[in-house]
This record gives sequence, C-alpha cells and structure tokens, in this order.
Amino acid sequence: MKASELNILVVEDDDFQRRMVVNMLRSLGVTAVHAAGDGWQALGVIREAGEPPVNIAVCDLDMPTMDGLEFLRHLSQESPDTAIILISALGSKLLASAGRMTRMYGISLLGVIEKPLMLGQLKHLLARYEHAGNKRQPPGAAADFTLEEILQGIQANQFEPFFQPKVDLKTGQLVGAEALARWIHPEYGVIGPDAFIPLLEQCGHIDSLTFLMLEKSAAVCRSLQDRGYIYTISVNLSLASLDDTTLADRITQVVQDAGLDPQYLILEITETAAMTNVAHALENLARLCIRGFTLSIDDYGTGYSSMQQLTRIAFGELKIDQSFVKDFADNEALRIVVESSIDMAHKLQVKSIAEGVETQQDWDMLKNMGCDTAQGYFIAPPMNLASFIEFCARYKPA
Ligand code: C2E
Ligand code: CA
Ligand code: CA
Repeated sequence: MKASELNILVVEDDDFQRRMVVNMLRSLGVTAVHAAGDGWQALGVIREAGEPPVNIAVCDLDMPTMDGLEFLRHLSQESPDTAIILISALGSKLLASAGRMTRMYGISLLGVIEKPLMLGQLKHLLARYEHAGNKRQPPGAAADFTLEEILQGIQANQFEPFFQPKVDLKTGQLVGAEALARWIHPEYGVIGPDAFIPLLEQCGHIDSLTFLMLEKSAAVCRSLQDRGYIYTISVNLSLASLDDTTLADRITQVVQDAGLDPQYLILEITETAAMTNVAHALENLARLCIRGFTLSIDDYGTGYSSMQQLTRIAFGELKIDQSFVKDFADNEALRIVVESSIDMAHKLQVKSIAEGVETQQDWDMLKNMGCDTAQGYFIAPPMNLASFIEFCARYKPA
C-alpha cells in the first residue's frame, strides 16, 4: 500500500504538535489525514471513517480526558485492524510498556517514538506498514481462504518469496536473507503466511509451497551470485515435510537444477510437539547435512523440547526467536535468556542469529553479547525481489 492510499489519524492534544505531525504526513505523500485532540474525538473519527477504515493511528500517550492507553483499549475493540504508532515525551521505559500493552490487545504496533518526532522516523514506520504486507488482510479473518483457493493461487503462480536481509553484527556486512512466503492476491494484495501456511500444513499440502519457495529462492541466490553478491538464502521447512524420506533428495535436486552450491541454502526448522515420525525427520536432516546444507534451529526457545533438539540435530545455526529479542532492552529476564542462548551457540560452535531486531539499542546490545547475525525491521522489513536487489546494490555497512 502506497503512502498516498493510506488513511491516517493523528491523536494529539497539543495543537502545534498535532499540526506538525499532520504536515509531516502530508509531506510524505499521505492525502487522507484526520486529526483529533483527544481519545473521544479520535473514536468519533474511527466510527465515522467506516470504509475505507483508518489504517494507522499516530497516537500521543499523555492526553487529558481520555489518555492514549484508554484510547488503545477502545481501539482494540472497535477497530482492531488499525495499526498504531505511539509517540510520547514520557521516556522510553514507559513507551516500551505501552508498546507491550498494545500488542497484548492484539493491535499491530508499527513502532514507538520519543518526542521530538523526526520526519525520518515517521517515514520509516510508514514504510513498515507498507512493506509488512501481512497487515493487509481480506475482509473477515485471514483463515477465510479455503484450501482450494490457496492451491489455485499456487497453481496460478501467485506466491512469491519476500526477502528479509541478514547482517553480520561484527562487520556490518550483508550476509544473506530469509525468504518469507507471500501471496500476491489479485484482489486483496499482499497476504502474509498466517493466512495459508497453517491450512496447507494441516491438509498435507505444504510441500507444494515449500518447493515453490525453494526453487524461486535457489534461482534468486544463483542470479545474485552471478552479479557478484555472494549471499546465503534461508528457507523455512515445515516439520510435516520431514516425514517423507525422499525430501532430502528432492531438495538436493532443486539446488542442482539451479546450479547452486548447497552451502548457500540454509534450511530453518522449528520443532513442535506435532513431529510425528522423529526417525524419518532425523534421517532427512542428517542427509541434508551430509549434502552440505546448513540447518538452522528456528524460533529457538519457543518450541517443544528445544534443548533436546540441540543434542540430536547436526545444525549449524541457532536462531533466537523474536519474542525474546523484541522487548529484551527493558527486560532483564529476557536479556539473560538471549545472552545465554548466544553463549550456548558459541560453546556448541554454531552461529547465533537474532530475529526481531527493531532498534539501534537492540543492535548494540546483541553486538556486545557477541551475537553473530541480526535480522529485523531495524535493518529492513521483508521485501519483494526487485526491492531486495535494489537493497543489495545500495547497501553499505553503517
Ligand atoms: P519466522 O520464520 O519466525 O519469520 C520471522 C517473522 O518475523 C516474519 O513474519 C517476519 O516478517 C517477521 N519479522 C521480521 N523482522 C521483524 C521485526 O523486527 N519485528 C517483528 N515484530 N517481526 C519481524 P512473516 O513473514 O509473517 O512469517 C511468519 C511465519 O510464517 C515465519 O516465522 C515462518 O514460520 C512462517 N513462514 C513464512 N514463510 C514460510 C514458508 O515458505 N514455509 C514455511 N513452512 N513457513 C513459512
Ligand atoms: Ca524462519
Ligand atoms: Ca520466529
């Protein structure tokens, strides 16, 4: 969604600051900007907006009559699809806990900004909304798609990998990207994986998507190498696929056909309680390892028996889940979990990677902890191939 198509509401009690935010949004190309002086007025605007709905509310926390916190509670009930940007002069600690509360209410939080608000920050957060893709869902719940519709979309070649850059924390060099599935729906636009992966997995059809992702990712990786960009591409593997003992051979065939060395393809795997045939899975994983693929333990810390997984899979990368990284700057317990995961990776002599890196502070802390690689909105959101190629060309270590 382009800035010019967005419908944005600014909720701020201070007249001067409200006008300033409105002007900044206009300068970024947003034409539909509403303004409200407090939470009550804001709810009025939301109710009137109806169609098209308000996409984003830029909200001050400290306001008379109804403060930002109460407004968010009402918003979660009346317009849960409206995304939020929080601004406040009250300091980063409070902003962080208000941010957590927002997520608890199920509202999509684009980011929090300490005053004074800068144009660059606002632009960055709007881009997040535009790139997130998965925020824009068809009317009704995401799961409204039937298996048949999804399979037809796959048949019609409407699915594409989006690429999210991964950067070496020590050198700042771009080292690769994770390929994340998106459905470029002719009617609803870009649709994120929550709307199709669970159903494909449950119905035994995930392989059709997995192989599409593998083929496109291997081709992209190869063609980037031809342009001199030697990067790895990570692809997510569903556990359901590991049941079939021919999987490793079929994946090997894909990279061979693409003319790619397996060392450039990283396979991310999350263990869950649903792992049915452990022996088959281990056979596949061991074979993939022998063939030279790198195996990455995804969502580390959230899965079922993560420790057990470490002991039986010959993996080369530990990927710390974003739920630990996201709020760890202001939460000591999370910081300890992240730090010990990184230490453990080092002791096991595998790479550590943190996902969900959203701020400079996250970046600095991970770097100090000796984490190898970072991925997250702070670097860049997932993007389509054309944007990723542009990103590679423009990229310079900070
Ligand atoms: P994941 O493997 O944990 O991927 C990371 C998710 O975090 C992605 O969501 C990404 O867009 C999001 N993300 C990246 N940076 C940040 C950040 O800084 N902050 C926050 N809050 N989020 C961030 P996405 O693309 O919606 O994917 C969701 C999940 O769907 C993935 O989680 C993965 O488990 C699954 N998935 C995506 N593509 C595929 C696929 O091709 N095959 C399979 N089996 N699963 C896939
Ligand atoms: Ca992943
Ligand atoms: Ca994750």
